[in-house]
Amino acid sequence: MSTSAVARTRLPLRPVPWSSVSDSTTPDTAADHLYDAVIIGGGPSGSSCAYWLARAGWDVAVVEKKTFPRAKTCGDGLTPRSVRQIADMGLEEQVAAAGHRYGGLRACGFGQEMAMQWPDHPSFPSYGYCITRFDLDGLVATNAAAAGATVFNGIEAIELLDVSEPIAEHRLAGASGVLVKDKATGTTTALRGRIVVIADGANSRMGRLLGTQRRRDWPMGMALRGYYTSPLHDDDFIESHLDIRDAQGNIVPGYGWIFPLGDGRVNVGVGLLSTDRRWKGVNTTKLMETFVDFAPDRWELTNESAVGPATGGRLPMGFSVGPRTGATTIAIGDASGAINPFNGEGIAYGYETGRLAAASIAESLGGGGEEALATYEERLTQAYGTYYDVARAFVRLISEPKLMAMCVGVGMRSETLMNELLALMANLLRPDERGPAEVAYRAMATLGRLLPDKALAALFNDTKQASLTSVSSAA
Ligand SMILES: Cc1cc2nc3c(=O)[nH]c(=O)nc-3n(C[C@H](O)[C@H](O)[C@H](O)COP(=O)(O)OP(=O)(O)OC[C@H]3O[C@@H](n4cnc5c(N)ncnc54)[C@H](O)[C@@H]3O)c2cc1C
Repeated sequence: MSTSAVARTRLPLRPVPWSSVSDSTTPDTAADHLYDAVIIGGGPSGSSCAYWLARAGWDVAVVEKKTFPRAKTCGDGLTPRSVRQIADMGLEEQVAAAGHRYGGLRACGFGQEMAMQWPDHPSFPSYGYCITRFDLDGLVATNAAAAGATVFNGIEAIELLDVSEPIAEHRLAGASGVLVKDKATGTTTALRGRIVVIADGANSRMGRLLGTQRRRDWPMGMALRGYYTSPLHDDDFIESHLDIRDAQGNIVPGYGWIFPLGDGRVNVGVGLLSTDRRWKGVNTTKLMETFVDFAPDRWELTNESAVGPATGGRLPMGFSVGPRTGATTIAIGDASGAINPFNGEGIAYGYETGRLAAASIAESLGGGGEEALATYEERLTQAYGTYYDVARAFVRLISEPKLMAMCVGVGMRSETLMNELLALMANLLRPDERGPAEVAYRAMATLGRLLPDKALAALFNDTKQASLTSVSSAA
């Protein structure tokens, strides 16, 4: 790869003017340049990690195979958790200008519906945004570049350099950088980094090269989304349907969504869970068509209102992917299976794991070495451990349509219970409920009001057996 090729493909993106972040790429692209960190993937996790590291003064490169702005299959929904990270990165004004602000969730199912505002919370706002990933991801990557990161567009990681044996069992292999290919010219070059960050998303070829594996007995999501024009494109609620059906009219474990984008369109999708034995046989395209037919008339969804074809993707959840750290390597976001099993949300967890990883990387680079890098696991356990244990066990249970129907029936009778559930499922419990023991107690107490005794006992047992740290010892 010639240096000029890199200069040509380097950010900036909208809305940062070219002059503000370009023109200084040449020295960085020399093959002997050693970055503090090379990050593979410029999605939410990679760009957040790059932003926090660059802001702290570290010399960081991001390698992104696509050229921003680029589409990414997603529901385009930001919850208050995502908004908090967006605001912390100084981007809320830009996201507000490009996206649609909304106030809460309307849950629908089995003939009932209830609209709930996002809860008041001391750390998170009580609103979210819907914004296409076409608009969002470029903003966040640009921000990382403006903070000092070198962000390469149209440059694909094809191999890892000097892959070395893991330093211990249940750790990733090491690497000293990445071989990249300029997609426009086909030329390759080596980018060296003291730390290599794996942020290449759900399929994570680079993670697998270092030894990551997904626990197949833990839940995984599969989802399809498409855009439709709708008169309710600027509704104040995102909508979630808990009783999606296949073409034969049978309830399928998963959910359907309609997220208003505020630009004339809504994002419509269906998501399924791998915990159900029928998952392999389900035709998601048919499922989507049936959902569109069945969606409330107020949205006016029809085949004619579809804007382009639907596309799908996988949602690795509950930290089902590991190991996540090696001597010089670390996996974040979807590459580590970070999606919240309760609601399929992954953008917030991409931002958060990128930021948590940046803290451990900085400690490692600052002299802490491989031990400091491994503190990322402790940070994850502290941030998500018990919550994700409960979430994984819960989605396994809820895959049984009869149980789901029963829960929806019970839940919809009480506005208080539904509001508690919303806070629980979006990981917006208040801090006094957020200690590791408290969160489990609180979650169980909320779910206990929903689930029959036998199911609650099964949930309790499952949660006890699972633990975030055990992911590192996954098959
Ligand atoms: C249908 C669907 C709907 C969803 N809806 C929502 C939602 O509404 N809200 C929500 O919060 N989450 C949602 N998610 C989950 C969310 O999209 C992900 O959790 C999130 O994108 C994870 O961010 P990431 O940075 O880890 O990975 P990604 O966003 O996948 O980013 C990875 C990046 O790495 C790049 N890359 C990959 N390989 C290479 C390589 N070899 N070299 C260079 N670059 C590479 C890719 O081009 C990509 O830009 C949804 C997912 C799906 C599939």
